[in-house]
Amino acid sequence: MTDAAAAADPRFHELAQRLEAVRERIAKAVASAGRGGQPPRLIVITKFHPADDIRRLAALGVTDVGENRDQEAAAKAAELAGAGLAWHFVGQLQTKKAKSVVRYAAAVHSVDRPQLVDALAKAVLNEQAATGREPLDCFIQVSLEDDAGAHRGGALPADVPALADRIATAEGLRLAGVMAVAPLGAAPEPAFEKLAKVSELLVRDHPAATGISAGMSQDLEAAIKFGATHLRIGSDILGSRPAVG
Ligand SMILES: *Cc1c(COP(=O)(O)O)cnc(C)c1O
Repeated sequence: MTDAAAAADPRFHELAQRLEAVRERIAKAVASAGRGGQPPRLIVITKFHPADDIRRLAALGVTDVGENRDQEAAAKAAELAGAGLAWHFVGQLQTKKAKSVVRYAAAVHSVDRPQLVDALAKAVLNEQAATGREPLDCFIQVSLEDDAGAHRGGALPADVPALADRIATAEGLRLAGVMAVAPLGAAPEPAFEKLAKVSELLVRDHPAATGISAGMSQDLEAAIKFGATHLRIGSDILGSRPAVG
């Protein structure tokens, strides 16, 4: 988008303001957590919002976007090819979609079972042979529910080591770290504290896998307090999601 077009576009200004407010919240949370080093990376979750909004975000300096449904993500990634964006897949993923996801995604945050590791590994090798793409960053999604029956997806903490080894030994996959969604209707701090402990154990065996993908619009401060390296923020930047995708 040109500067002149942006100046006449109210949605551009709205997104600029919302993005700035979220960036300020992040900076404040980083300061109050006393965190030095690398600031957490902001991934804007753009699900249900049109490609035009992603174009506006790119013009505002956003480099990382996330989606949770393959069909929608694939279409937007194709439309925005050449915009220099890194695409993050954050939703539940069926093995049969692996082939499609590795065409556009730099990272998958929702790796939660051995079959999915194998499907992604196979798909990424084929894609690398065809296009020379980079290895795929994989975050292990961890369930933080006490009641395993009710969980919102993710591997149990006890299953993380085996899954991590499987990713680390798969050619074409890079073990990036852990990911979680805070449980519904409970305080996020204890959940993110638990995730930090899972991460600590993982890093003992895999020193490069330091990523912690945690923190959404409602709980980014708590996630930053417990070491989040990747934030996944949707509605506080884009507004409430339209009903139709
Ligand atoms: C939608 C979504 C987000 C963003 O949530 P908001 O509350 O809109 O910030 C983050 N992570 C995942 C896995 C999501 O599906």
